[in-house]
Amino acid sequence: MVLGSLLINQHPLLFKNERLPWRHGPRDAGYPFSRRKMIIRPRTTSSNSSTAEADNVGLGRSSLVLNKGIAEFYDESSGVWENIWGDHMHHGFYDDDSSVSLSDHRLAQIRMIEEALRFASVPSGEENTSDGKIPKRIVDVGCGIGGSSRYLARKYGAECRGITLSPVQAERATALALSQGLSDKVSFQVADALEQPFPDEQFDLVWSMESGEHMPNKLKFVNELVRVVAPGGTIIIVTWCHRDLAEGEDSLQPWEKGLLDKICKAYFLPSWCSAADYVKLLQSLSLDDIRRADWTQYVAPFWPAVLQSAFTWKGLTSLLRSGFKTIKGALVMPLMIEGFKKGVIKFSIITCRKPK
Ligand code: SAH
Repeated sequence: MVLGSLLINQHPLLFKNERLPWRHGPRDAGYPFSRRKMIIRPRTTSSNSSTAEADNVGLGRSSLVLNKGIAEFYDESSGVWENIWGDHMHHGFYDDDSSVSLSDHRLAQIRMIEEALRFASVPSGEENTSDGKIPKRIVDVGCGIGGSSRYLARKYGAECRGITLSPVQAERATALALSQGLSDKVSFQVADALEQPFPDEQFDLVWSMESGEHMPNKLKFVNELVRVVAPGGTIIIVTWCHRDLAEGEDSLQPWEKGLLDKICKAYFLPSWCSAADYVKLLQSLSLDDIRRADWTQYVAPFWPAVLQSAFTWKGLTSLLRSGFKTIKGALVMPLMIEGFKKGVIKFSIITCRKPK
């Protein structure tokens, strides 16, 4: 969807008869943002998907179908991924692409977490800094099997709540927390990021690592992140975006849309937006310290390595045992590489802080 032109009007489908998503609950009385700023909707044209109009309804039929597909995809594929790649289901962050071994990839995935925290100026040591406090309550939105949650809980001694659409992931994340002695710190549940089961302003750090691309309604997604973050807390979104549109462009080129559509079908993604679109959304919600960066160059070795791992004996046998959705996902990997190389797909980080 093109969020590029954000209209300050009430969207009849999005908000009619709804309480404003981040203004209910016990702690909303003093919230500083105005209703007018809240009621902003994306235009219903799409950069790459014919289902954008329906997607923008947020929880309409297409979203339910999408969520079911996402849940089944991760139910089916998470075991294969963990078997080969371990508990982080996100890209690694690399200096360059020279001969990276599997253990290096795992380190690179940890580095991705550290780089994201650094980029957002989340304090890393024991001491709080002038930039902010060490997070003590964290939500991991789209938590996979809980790799980030457990890492962040250990790093900060924080309590972390993870949500995913996949019951298999939630169960596995819980089992791993138990076996690693972290069950008093982290917990996981099946829940929708667009309807989070948390009261307002609960978390010092709201963490979304490679889940935003699955969200059919970016406005609702961002609103929920903003609703649950505490005043002064940080939101980190690391996500796949399409390139920013150039001046005068109002959609991607047909061949770009075609490429993204194929990826959408295999990975259960709705229409894409750009990092500039996210920034506009956050600006419209008066968030502080909005930052963005394109990290595409730092993730370049990742997909070739994933592709290569699929062609090992372990990879092939795991894939064949998994199921149709996982195999379809594997077949689309070359398109991700093509998308990055041709500049259509951008690996983006967008961060901000809620005003105190
Ligand atoms: N952040 C994890 C997993 C990334 S995979 C990691 O870095 O390891 C994408 C995750 O987003 C999956 O767990 C999937 O279930 C979750 N997800 C996608 N759409 C979601 C939604 N609407 N609500 C909650 N989780 C969602």
